[in-house]
Amino acid sequence: MALMITDECINCDVCEPECPNAAISMGPEIYQIDAERCTECVGHFDTPQCQIVCPVACIPLNPAHPETAEQLLSKYRRLQASAKHVPPSDLVVESALCAPDRK
Ligand code: SF4
Ligand code: SF4
Repeated sequence: MALMITDECINCDVCEPECPNAAISMGPEIYQIDAERCTECVGHFDTPQCQIVCPVACIPLNPAHPETAEQLLSKYRRLQASAKHVPPSDLVVESALCAPDRK
C-alpha cells in the first residue's frame, strides 16, 4: 500500500530527500506522494523513511492503493529497471561518440 500525506503537512521539506524512490514532491499546497512510485520503502529499507522523519506524523497508508508485499516488491523492481533503462536513441549517440575516427 502506498503512503499518502494528509493536510496536516507543514511543508517542512524533510521527507522529500529521504525517499529512495523520488515519490515525494511539492504539490499545489502541501507535499504529495506519487502512489506509482511509493513502495513503502520495500526494496530499500525495512521502515518507510518518510514516516520516520515527519515531525507531525501526517503520512499514513493510502487506503486507495491496497498492495501486497509482493506487489510492492515488483513495483520496486520495475522502478529499478526503468532507472537503468537507456533509450535506444541515446545508445546510438553514445556508440557514435565512442566510435574511432574514420578517415
Ligand atoms: S514510504 Fe518510502 S517510498 Fe514511499 S514515499 Fe515514503 S520514503 Fe518514499
Ligand atoms: S515531513 Fe511531514 S510535515 Fe514535513 S513536508 Fe513531509 S509530510 Fe509534510
